[in-house]
Amino acid sequence: MQVFKFGGASVKDAEGVVNLGRIVAAYQPSKLLIVVSAMGKTTNLLEQLTLSYFNKQDDTLGLLEQSKQYHASIVRALFTDTSHPVYNEVSNRFVEIEWILEEAPADPYDYLYDQIVSVGELVSTTIVSHYLNHIGIANKWLDARDYIATDNTHREGKVDWHVTRERVQRDLPQLLENQLAVTQGFIGSTSENFTTTLGREGSDYSAAIFAASLEAESVTIWKDVPGVLNADPKWFDETQLIPELSYLDAIELTYYGATVIHPKTIKPLQNKNIPLYVKSFIDIENGGTQICGTDGPLPVPSFIFKVNQVLISILPKDFSFIVEDNLSDIFSRFHQHKIKVNMMHNSAVNFSVSVDDTGDNVNMLLHDLKARYEVQCQNGLELITIRHYNQETIDRVLVNKAIIMELKDRYTCQLLVRKLDG
Ligand code: ASP
Ligand code: MG
Repeated sequence: MQVFKFGGASVKDAEGVVNLGRIVAAYQPSKLLIVVSAMGKTTNLLEQLTLSYFNKQDDTLGLLEQSKQYHASIVRALFTDTSHPVYNEVSNRFVEIEWILEEAPADPYDYLYDQIVSVGELVSTTIVSHYLNHIGIANKWLDARDYIATDNTHREGKVDWHVTRERVQRDLPQLLENQLAVTQGFIGSTSENFTTTLGREGSDYSAAIFAASLEAESVTIWKDVPGVLNADPKWFDETQLIPELSYLDAIELTYYGATVIHPKTIKPLQNKNIPLYVKSFIDIENGGTQICGTDGPLPVPSFIFKVNQVLISILPKDFSFIVEDNLSDIFSRFHQHKIKVNMMHNSAVNFSVSVDDTGDNVNMLLHDLKARYEVQCQNGLELITIRHYNQETIDRVLVNKAIIMELKDRYTCQLLVRKLDG
């Protein structure tokens, strides 16, 4: 039994869905669970729609219409017979949003977000499942919410592994004997049957949850890159494919911000020793990365860039030393505002952290910290992490940059830098 995961970019248009069909066909016959994200930029649009509804702006219906049109054009391109049931099913999915929009917003934002944004995955899988049946690949559409159990932390649902595993084991091995199954990434549900989501880009994690619960043979994530590269091609011209990667290096790379796989994906697979393949949906025969229990070191230095960093330096107001209870107070404030620390350094009188400059959340955190500490900020910085660094790689990334903060351990070097003018 294998799990395939297709992200939004792989199904951004009808051609993408056709290509997904080609990939799945190439792997027949084999037992497959296919996990699919929302199409293209749907999640962003539905996020915008939720915000608009919540703030009672007047573009809510326009945004809904935009998403409906986008999906309708994909459905029309895939199914020439307009009496095909997919037409009705897709519009029924959107009715769920229409029902919500009919009432004035009364529920908490994070709850509404999950009820609305989850429709993206419900629609995409409806289309994909029908399309596969249409081209002769028999499959069953599954509602991931019947399997992935979470607590009620909306937008960041914590998985109840025990319940999830029980439900998956109860149904799926048998079901997958005779047919494929198509289900949603990113979504789950609470014990009261309210929809939750697992955090942005969470479909990779869903694939890992299903795979671990099924004790699958492998997971394959189909991407628009040839596999895991040693740097994001957005920042580097000459990137190299990493053919094999240990679970540990994969965890470290994603922890520092490599966006190729969702950071939570690796651990459940490592626990069950399930290999994760990252392959190109464009060039399905070649390349790819295998993430597995190898002891082999990372074959090439790897670079992770994060722009738009803000360095927050925190000093006690009375200039007393930064001691453990200050640190625990500071960390709990970061946690409260859901701000992830990308790099930190403490000295006797000063604690410095670099975080993504996400605007509002950071401003609220700063406001909060200033009540108790002396706080200084520097914006517009870049964070460069090099895994398996050497001096040459450091020199390479420092051209026209000034170092603001630097941290090195045996394997990883982090450089917080400011771009020099000119
Ligand atoms: N559709 C969700 C997102 O865009 C989940 C995913 O793509 O993995 O964040
Ligand atoms: Mg995605």
